[in-house]
Formats: sequence, structure tokens, C-alpha cells
Amino acid sequence: MLKNLLAILACMLFGFSYGQVKSPAEFLGYPVGTKVTPHWKVLAYYDHILKQVPGQVKMESYGESYEGRPLRVYYISSAKHIANLDQIRTNNLKLAHALEGDGDSNGPAIVWISNNIHGNETSSIEASMLTLYALVDPQNSKSKAWLENTLVILDPCLNPDGTERYNNWYNGVVGKNYNPQLYAREHREPWPAGRYNHYYFDMNRDWAWQTQQESVLRASIYNKWLPHIHVDFHEQGINSPYYFPPAAEPLHEVITPWQREFQTTIGKHNAKYFDSKGWLYFTKERFDLFYPSYGDTYPIYSGAIGMTFEKAGNGSAGLGVYTDDKDTLTLVDRAIQHHASGLNVIEIVSQHAPKVVAEFKKFGDDAASGKLSSFQTYIVKYDASREKTLRALLTLLDKNKIKYYAASGSVRGFDYFSKKDGNHTLQEKDLVIPGNQSKGALIRVLFEPEAKLTDSVTYDITAWSLPYVYGLPTLASKSKLADLRPYSLDSIQNTVGSNFGYAIKWDGFSSAQLLGALLKQQVTVKASDQSFKIGAEEFPKGSLLIMKNGNKQKEVDKLVKAEADRLQVRVYAIQSGIMEGGKDLGSSDVKTLKAPKVLMMAGEGLRATNVGEVWHYFDQQLQYPIVLVNPTDFSRVKWDEVDVFIMPNGNYAFLKDKAQSAEFASWIRKGGKVIALEGVVSQLAAQEWSAMKVAKQDSATKSKSNPLKKYGDRERGALENYTAGAIYKVTIDNSHPLMFGIKDYFTLKQDANLYQYMENNAGWNVGYIQENAKMSGFVGHQLGKKLKNGMVFGTQKLGQGTVVYLADNVLFRNFWESGKLVMANAVFFAVE
Ligand SMILES: [Zn+2]
Repeated sequence: MLKNLLAILACMLFGFSYGQVKSPAEFLGYPVGTKVTPHWKVLAYYDHILKQVPGQVKMESYGESYEGRPLRVYYISSAKHIANLDQIRTNNLKLAHALEGDGDSNGPAIVWISNNIHGNETSSIEASMLTLYALVDPQNSKSKAWLENTLVILDPCLNPDGTERYNNWYNGVVGKNYNPQLYAREHREPWPAGRYNHYYFDMNRDWAWQTQQESVLRASIYNKWLPHIHVDFHEQGINSPYYFPPAAEPLHEVITPWQREFQTTIGKHNAKYFDSKGWLYFTKERFDLFYPSYGDTYPIYSGAIGMTFEKAGNGSAGLGVYTDDKDTLTLVDRAIQHHASGLNVIEIVSQHAPKVVAEFKKFGDDAASGKLSSFQTYIVKYDASREKTLRALLTLLDKNKIKYYAASGSVRGFDYFSKKDGNHTLQEKDLVIPGNQSKGALIRVLFEPEAKLTDSVTYDITAWSLPYVYGLPTLASKSKLADLRPYSLDSIQNTVGSNFGYAIKWDGFSSAQLLGALLKQQVTVKASDQSFKIGAEEFPKGSLLIMKNGNKQKEVDKLVKAEADRLQVRVYAIQSGIMEGGKDLGSSDVKTLKAPKVLMMAGEGLRATNVGEVWHYFDQQLQYPIVLVNPTDFSRVKWDEVDVFIMPNGNYAFLKDKAQSAEFASWIRKGGKVIALEGVVSQLAAQEWSAMKVAKQDSATKSKSNPLKKYGDRERGALENYTAGAIYKVTIDNSHPLMFGIKDYFTLKQDANLYQYMENNAGWNVGYIQENAKMSGFVGHQLGKKLKNGMVFGTQKLGQGTVVYLADNVLFRNFWESGKLVMANAVFFAVE
């Protein structure tokens, strides 16, 4: 191994070549790590290898990033395996019970290596070229032997848009020689940083939710393979030398003894090599295995040994940087270490290949028999008024290859909303998700009401149970159900041609998507703030009415049909202007909705991921225009053209500028609408005109400090007042337009902030947390006592304008499905 790596290093540095197969240094014209290589050039090197050794390498394109850059994987193995790729793949899916039939356990072990999901963590994409070369180098007898029983799948770059954002910036600011001073500008990456994709999403939080195009495409090809080992390469701060498995607690309970054991085997093997080089590292710290949407956990819950590897580096490292202990951290070293880890993993997996495959099969067998489940069945109860949200859930299940059914009979189980056990007679459209299937472990993690934490110090949120995220009444049952039938909801094909017009129920996010699409196309749309009936159909508050007479848009029928069919939303023909149980169509309470002009600031000072959540929501989900403005351009905005100003989390300098904040308040008073998110609520609460006040703690719940606390307990002690993210029930006033179409709302509480109820008609308290409202997740016991009797969602009228306060993130990572309608209500309806 050592000799082998030295040989590779020599090639890398001096550019030796073997026949037609060029080393990366020879191909690039410089040793790997001495320059930051553009994405296209990395792919060009891969294609060079593909051309030279077609028998051992195969490429599959799996789509494009948002900015149109290619997404690809390369398969590398012995000629025998490369000739049989599809047979290996389908056989493997049989082992996982993802395909019918008996799989054969004699196939090769499958190692998948993912690089650069965070685009400014530069070393892994560079290292991957060295790894590719080591695997195909004709002189390398070791790798040849590994590939006899191992198939390697290399994804050179999961996030090419972020990678190129970083690379272009870095190559533009670095001089002929790099400057290692940390305060030099080449170590000060500008907003929003290359870590994120086009919409500023952290894609290493998005594996399960797949809100981003790159995530959807990757999960699709990943689930077509289900590899046995998944390596996810990253970089951490420049002063933390190297992290590799085994992972830190908490580990989710569903993780099997074998998955734990083999992480340790891999870690020890890597440690041996690092020790031989005198390289520093740590294991079992910081990087836990709990939240399901990472590049280690998602593969683990799908049967792999999923692992994170972190080298010192990231956007501040450049080609070389001084660390705190006066060492110089170089990209050359970073690449060499990730390259070494990659080869070490392949080597140890090859040594254990039969066992790796056998254990993968066992995971599949256990998942399929329900051994990995805590509850055996999840039943999402059908409610016609939540069908749109149910459709959104089905989309998520399909993306994750989770199978669902219909069934009959009765069942006993835990009711998520009441938190009590109860009986339920199954209805025709109730959705049944059996725990005993290929994705049984993932189902358990996504659905179980409460995941057991072995340690409360965790890297991320502690609750994400889908019935709360979607606001769908669900039972978790210990029973398996028999006689499962295929499940589907009717595909919606609307019939149009009414003389009068159409009504659309306001009861899910797709209602809002349809509204956005119609407004964008100049269709005149009205909304009723009273519920009404057409025949037997009930239309809740907020439902939309589209009259043909007097409509600005003359092609109403055609547009309504096209958009409603695309979004799978039912439209109902209106036969008469008299509405049963509601105001008639000519009533002044049936108001025409204005197509609001929406603006948001996006730039330095604001949290990029929160800006990205709003941007993606408008641009991709609503497909409704939003103007993004640099925060420094406050005074350039033509505010009289703006109707809605959205303020994602961050610091707004204009609020501290006397003249600008006065201009802002005067814009609201003249009829502007502000939607303040998360921490911005407290910034606005500090303005003299705001009716919001942070909730006071009563003396009984004030935490008393313990003077005799132990030093060694300080980390855990700090958790008493902490939550990383837990789910709370929000009591809602759904007669208020901000909550139209919502029946139950559960919020992700990520901080200690609650607000006092607004009194004396100062505003509306639309969503608040009462006693015993915690549904799921970890909250420190001192904080737990405080999180009650306070407001999270409210509105205030100011002059002719409105301020909407959303203290919790309703668009969290854009998977918090029920929050999307709250945001749409805030944008489109008069919410004073
Ligand atoms: Zn990373």
C-alpha cells in the first residue's frame, strides 16, 4: 500500500505516464493540488481515462445541475464486471428486496464515492482524479486485485454549480503564488459561498427530502444501485486535521451491529495508514448518525455503510493557508489525504467483499421481514380536505422508493395528533405504508413519532416525523396488515367550458401554486373569506373564484385547464351567482386578488440558506416572480412598485439607519406588506412601531443557576436551555387568512423565542404554543419549561399596511410541507 501510494505520488509530482493512460499531472500540466482545477477540466480527465481504458471504465450521465452543468458517475472495475454492470445492478436490487427474485451473493462489493457536495471543499474533486488513475493504472497490481471483487462508482462532483462558484472566485483572486495569511482576501470567500448549490441549499441536508434538482437526480441513480459502501468526502475547519469513522453518538437505533462494526473496521484500517504517515486525525466526535438527510445517514438507512470523511480545508483554505499551530495546510496535502482514505476504503472492502455482500443481503432480508421496524405499519388517514398534501407525501415516498398500499379491516395504533392509542377502521383511500419492505429502515426513521436519542448533543434537528411535517392525521401500528392492494389517487383531468366560471378549493399548497400560475398569466382571480357550497361540495375559506365575465384574461378555460391539470388540482364549474352558505359572487366580501409584486433582499449579511429557501419557493415551486435586491441597494429600490417585502433571517443594516428605517415604516403605513421570518421578528420587535414583544419568563420557570455544577458537565449543562429543533403543536386561528386551508399545524422550534400575545387590538395572534405542546424531539429541560403560552405567528396592521411575523421557519429546508401554505397565505391574501 505504502509503496504503491509513493509511486502514485511520484507520478503526480513528476508526471510519469504509463502508455496512453496519462496521470492527472501529465494531463493537467501541473501536479494535483497546485492549482484549483475547473469542473470541466476534471471531467475532461475522466473522459481521457474512459477513452484509454473503455473496458474497465464506464460513464453514466444522470442529468444536469440547475445551471446546466453535467452530473455523471463513472463505474470502475475489472473488465468482467464492467461488461456485466446491469446484471450486477439488478442482482443487487434483488438482494435488497427492491426487486422481486432471489439475488446471488457472489457479486462484487459496491463502493460509491461522492465528492464535492459542498462546492468549496475543494480537495475531494481533485483527489478523485488521483483515485481514478490509481484504479486504472496498468502498473498498479494492488488496485487490479481489488477490482476483481469490487465495483467502484465515482461521482466526481455532486455540486458543480457551487464548485464553479468557488473555483471561479478563487482563481480570480489568487496571485502567481498563493498567500498563506488567513486574513488575505483569497481566504475570505464572498457571500453566498460555494458550499451551496444554485439556490443556496446545503445539499448535504437534502438527501431524503430531495427538494433540489441535483438531489432528485442523484437519489434516482443511487436508488437504482443501492451500493454497499458510501463514502462522502468533505472538509472541516482549517485547524481540525482529519475526521474519519467510526461516527459519534447519537447513532439512530436502527443502525445495525454490522454497520457499526464495519465503520470501526474501516476506521482502524485508515488509522493504520495515517499513523504510518504521522498524519493527525480524530474519530467518534462531532459527526453523528441521526438526521436522515445526510450523505452518511441516508445511505445507512438504505442498507449501506455510510460514512463522512472530513479533511481540514473549506472555502478559507485556498491553495495554502497558515493554521493556528503555524503549519501550512496545502491543497496538495488535502488531496493526498482524501485520496489515501478513498483507496484505503476500497482496499479494506475488497478484503472483506464476501462478508460485505452477505451483510448487505441480511440488511435487505431484515428490512423486508420487518425486523428493522419499530412500528410495523403506518396509516395515513384519508381526508378529502387534505388530499393535496397527501399527494405531496406520495411524491416524496416515490422519490425514496417507498412502497405504499390500500387495505381493509380495522387496526389499533398510536395516533400522532392526540398521542393516544386508538382503533381505526380502514377506509378505501387510507394510505398504508408497511414497515416490512426494502426501505423499512428509512421508513422507520422518517415516520416514527419519536426517535430515541442516545445522546442529546447532536449536529442537527432531532425531529422530522412526516405526519407532523405534512400535518396529516396518521396512526403508527404494531400490527402487520394483510391483503394489501395497490394504492393510487385518481389522476385529475379537469373538464372546462362553464359559462360562468370556476371555483377552486383552498386546501393545500397546490392551490397556491395554481393561484400563482394564474395570476402570473393575468387571470383575474377572486377569493372568498367565507366558506361556501356548490351543490354537495364544500369550499373552505380562501377558496378561489374565477369569473369569465369581465376577466382580463380571455383564455380562461384553456389556462385553467392546463395549469390545474399540471398541478393536479380539481376545478369546479360555477352554475350560478348565488352561493349556498356563503356570500354571493357579487358581494363585496368576494375580493379580487391583486398579483402582488414581491421583493426580497439577497446578499451579504443575510443567511444564504434562508434566502435560498424563499428564492427556490418562488422560482421553482410557485413559479411566481420575485425580485432579489442587494442589501446595500435599499435606496435604489422603487418602493412604490413593491407590494410584499420578504425578510429572511439575517441582519438588515437599513433598520439601523435612521432615515432608511423611517422610509421603511412609511412604506408600510402607505400599504406595504412585510413578511418577517425567524430572527427578523425580534429585529422588527425592537422598532418603536412594532406591537411584538419577546415573551417574559415567569419567576417560577426562571432557571436557577447551580453554583456547585461540575466543570466536566459543562457541555451537557449548556443543553438545559437548548433545542436543536423539536416539533411543537401550534394552536391556530384558522378563521384568519394567514391560516386559511390549514387544519393542524406543527412547527419546528429551533430556538427559545416566543412572543407575548398582542393585546388591545394591537394585532392578531394567529398561531401560538400552549401548555404541553411538544410533540417530538429533544428540548433541554429548562427550555422545555419555558416553551409555552407564547406566540409564533401573528399579524399587525400599521397604517394601511401589514406586518406578518413568522417567528419559526415555515420553509425549513423546503421540506416543511405545511408551512408552504402559510407563506402563500401571507403573500397572496389580505392578512391585516
Ligand atoms: Zn462538507
